Amino acid sequence: MIRLYNSRTLKVEDFVPIHEGHVDMYVCGPTVYNYAHIGNARPMVVFDVLKRLFEAEGYTVTYVSNFTDVDDKIIKKAAEEGTTENVIAERYIEAYQQVRTQLNTELPDITPRVTETMDEIIAFVDELVKSGHAYVVDGDVYFSVDSVPTYGEISHQKLDQLEAGARIETNDQKKNPYDFALWKKTDMGIKWNSPWGMGRPGWHTECVVMINDNLGEKIDIHGGGMDLKFPHHENEAAQQEACHGNALANYWIHNAMVNINGEKMSKSLGNTMWAKDVVDALGTNLTRWLVSSVHYRKELNFSDETIETARKELDKVLTPLKQADIKAALANADMGEAYDEAEYRAFLDAMDDDMNTPNAYAVIFETVKKLNQTLRQREINFEAAGTYRNAVEKMLNILGIVVEKPVITDEDRELFAKWNEAKKAKDFASADIYRAQLSEKGLL
Ligand SMILES: [Zn+2]
Repeated sequence: MIRLYNSRTLKVEDFVPIHEGHVDMYVCGPTVYNYAHIGNARPMVVFDVLKRLFEAEGYTVTYVSNFTDVDDKIIKKAAEEGTTENVIAERYIEAYQQVRTQLNTELPDITPRVTETMDEIIAFVDELVKSGHAYVVDGDVYFSVDSVPTYGEISHQKLDQLEAGARIETNDQKKNPYDFALWKKTDMGIKWNSPWGMGRPGWHTECVVMINDNLGEKIDIHGGGMDLKFPHHENEAAQQEACHGNALANYWIHNAMVNINGEKMSKSLGNTMWAKDVVDALGTNLTRWLVSSVHYRKELNFSDETIETARKELDKVLTPLKQADIKAALANADMGEAYDEAEYRAFLDAMDDDMNTPNAYAVIFETVKKLNQTLRQREINFEAAGTYRNAVEKMLNILGIVVEKPVITDEDRELFAKWNEAKKAKDFASADIYRAQLSEKGLL
């Protein structure tokens, strides 16, 4: 049984799907006006691991994640570069997908865009206006938060408390300062015709419409970064309650933020790390190992120290797998496909417990220890070694970490044989040379 922390109920709950054996999952995607930074990379990895976990536990998953291709920032960038919003959006959508691939994440099944959903968005806003949940002021349309009694259920903030402590932008047009724009009148940048005049949609509506459009009126999992909980997810949920009278999602899953050297990443601090640069520098496996080394609801720190720790840990896991493969190849032994079911189940149990990756890592280390013990025997039992090796590979697959099988050529075999002979003959000078050659080939 997979259990997940639900931000709406503040509890770890048993996961019960709407449709047996299937999961509908929606994760808010980026506004495409710049490259993905390492903060964007975290939900890519977190929700990819969740998808893989569901699949390992026998579910099928439909994963939808949008691209916000209409926004002030995109309009501004297009104006600065003297080009169209579409050119800007295409550039960063492509870059974003490249990072997903670079990170070995499975691409979402559907990636809807605002520009391709405009008719549905306008119809949705129109329905909210007609049902009295939204009001029109001089070409702008606002959602009335007071019209939904459940407002505040996702972020656990009550409107009266919000209003008391709020320092938000005052806008004379709004009935309540927390009312938010569903449609903005505009004469600058990309715009569409609507019942309220030329304009463009506000950000909070698109996800609701895309969920309804692609997955239905209620989904299993709605995910995203912690920073989206309020107001974005609160506002999404409120619109669905207003329009369809039901909860948008059964489970609201939020990942915590990423820090750089213990500090919040921000433009003003100038410490933004682009995801593509990080993955280029560290490689896919190390980046993913580091991201999953911390529980997804805890802050993740990128620093020389955490990177170094992750590097050592990953080496400790991957090196014995490689050694097992090489030793088996040299002995012409087949390790087969069987895996240690008890260890693999222990890993899944840890993951099923609200994706407790630190506990899951402990199971990986324990299995690697057993593999090492097996490999140290004078007569290696390759069948036993194989069950541990294969179990670890299956665990790593759920984390999206790829185990590459070393290729042993005849030349390599000869080199190993010469090394062993030299050692036997106590010809240490030659042994050292062979050892260095093998090491250079990455075979030791
Ligand atoms: Zn969203």
